[in-house]
Amino acid sequence: MITKKTLKASVKAFKDFAKKNLPDEKLQELDARDECPLDIVRHMCSPDKLGIQLLFVPEEFGGFGGGAFDVYCVCEEMARIDLGVATAVLATFLGSDPITVGATQEQKKLWLTRIAEEGLLFAYGATEPNAGSDLGALESTADRVVEDGKVVGYKINGSKQWISNGGIADACTVLANTPGGPSWFVVEKGAPGFSHDEPEDKHGIRLSNTAALSFTDVYVDADRLIGGVEGQGLIQAQAVFGYTRLMVAAFGLGAGWAALDRAIPYSRTRIQAGAPLSEKQGYTHKLIVPNVVRLEAARAYIEETAERIDAGEGSLNTEGAIAKYMATEAGDRAADASIQALGGYGYTHEYMVEKIKRDVRITRIYEGTSEIMEMTISRDRWQSHLKTRGRHYHEQAQKFEALHASHPSVGADIAALALHALAEVMERARVARLTRHQHVLLRVGELIAYAECAGSLSRRASLMLQGRLHEKANQRFDATALETIARCFAREAALKVAAEGLQVVAGAGGVTDSEMAAFQTTMGLPAIHRAQAGLIADLDYVADVLYGRVAKSARAAA
Ligand SMILES: Cc1cc2nc3c(=O)[nH]c(=O)nc-3n(C[C@H](O)[C@H](O)[C@H](O)COP(=O)(O)OP(=O)(O)OC[C@H]3O[C@@H](n4cnc5c(N)ncnc54)[C@H](O)[C@@H]3O)c2cc1C
Repeated sequence: MITKKTLKASVKAFKDFAKKNLPDEKLQELDARDECPLDIVRHMCSPDKLGIQLLFVPEEFGGFGGGAFDVYCVCEEMARIDLGVATAVLATFLGSDPITVGATQEQKKLWLTRIAEEGLLFAYGATEPNAGSDLGALESTADRVVEDGKVVGYKINGSKQWISNGGIADACTVLANTPGGPSWFVVEKGAPGFSHDEPEDKHGIRLSNTAALSFTDVYVDADRLIGGVEGQGLIQAQAVFGYTRLMVAAFGLGAGWAALDRAIPYSRTRIQAGAPLSEKQGYTHKLIVPNVVRLEAARAYIEETAERIDAGEGSLNTEGAIAKYMATEAGDRAADASIQALGGYGYTHEYMVEKIKRDVRITRIYEGTSEIMEMTISRDRWQSHLKTRGRHYHEQAQKFEALHASHPSVGADIAALALHALAEVMERARVARLTRHQHVLLRVGELIAYAECAGSLSRRASLMLQGRLHEKANQRFDATALETIARCFAREAALKVAAEGLQVVAGAGGVTDSEMAAFQTTMGLPAIHRAQAGLIADLDYVADVLYGRVAKSARAAA
């Protein structure tokens, strides 16, 4: 268990270290040279130095036993500094995951203790040249080595692609096909037949080492088969997705905010047409505020999911997918908008936002692409829709209507409109059998993510009003600002669900001309349009908060 105090101290130590050792000029140099600062990564992972890895190693193996909430907090902070370095730390976490969830007690003791005590760097070897999103297409093999009728070891053959820490890790978990099915193995650096290529020349996260791995008759003893039973590999990989996707979600959040935290001060001092850009509504309400709103919607979902994982609700894969999808898409958009916000300066290396944009782009690809997230989300919630005969999202909406009755300012009524509209879109897709079009399925996945995040953010705002937020929750905004942000996002989500939901069902032939007007009413389109009233005033208010134009006392009175 990590206390709030310990977490704060760890984050502070990390920030102080980064300030001293990774100033902008150093980051720019390493980025230009495409170089992973191994000394810094080792320093961060060494138990007698920063020891970030200790946070996620269970206490019984010498770590601090941090939960999902702690990991989210640390990942966001790491991403704010540099996503490449953060990826190097993440890779050890990912690499040790199959061990944490699937290993025997002896294996856990051996490897997790070594991570905690020796600062061992790991890599996670799943992806192959022909097996990316579809890991079932795995081609690497692990053949049994049998002596006296007993399996004493395995010979691994194959190759892995784009493996983070691939060229620097001390050990690697490798997924390979055994006669009993896909299974994880631990392979140590230096094993005969195990080699890695030169680091990839990448678009972003150039401070992380990414390399292909090659295995030619690499022998490992049978005790390197994680869990000791063949065929558990894909189940073990699935078991932690909720958790690991939350980490990448936190990366998207941290990087997105890192970009905005450069754009916001810049726009205070940049004078154009006689006044700072921060005073121009057409600038703030396009480039800054909507990105803040989307990032905070994603944060609400991340925090809620982390809290639920820590409460023992299971691995929450779909919620992890929603968190990752929303935070990484929002982070990428925020970084892109930050380049725009800095104009020509934003397009140069010196101002850093273009580096952040290149870096954050990977979060939409690794640990499951955005399209795979859309599919995961849609398939799961589709089952809920079917099982409840279309009631699932109507019932969720009713909960937010109740929340609106007790907390009328947090946008819960508008979130409810989004959820009702979503239920109608899904029902229409069911009746007209539209999910045979993969495009419909995936677009609905996006709408689900928006509608659920709208609910989450309004709930978060209500908890903040009641002083019941998680003790480690981010407190960047006060309750008045957060409820305004929640209303802004709920409006966006409701309009998106209605407009894009209508587009996709009509586009797939699910609504005839004569049904159109009635369907729009069933979806609640007129109410969703009416709910847009007040949007500009709310955007004005969020801008005023971001630019320090509202005193805290005035906010409390608002
Ligand atoms: C910098 C970097 C670091 C990485 N680190 C690691 C690591 O440490 N360990 C590791 O194992 N892997 C790692 N990866 C691999 C990463 O997880 C994969 O790139 C990712 O899962 C996508 O696989 P792919 O690249 O083969 O793309 P593909 O699966 O070929 O996908 C290509 C495109 O098609 C879409 N697509 C795929 N399937 C479908 C479908 N069924 N329906 C519709 N659209 C689809 C995808 O969304 C994507 O847009 C890393 C990759 C990079 C670039």
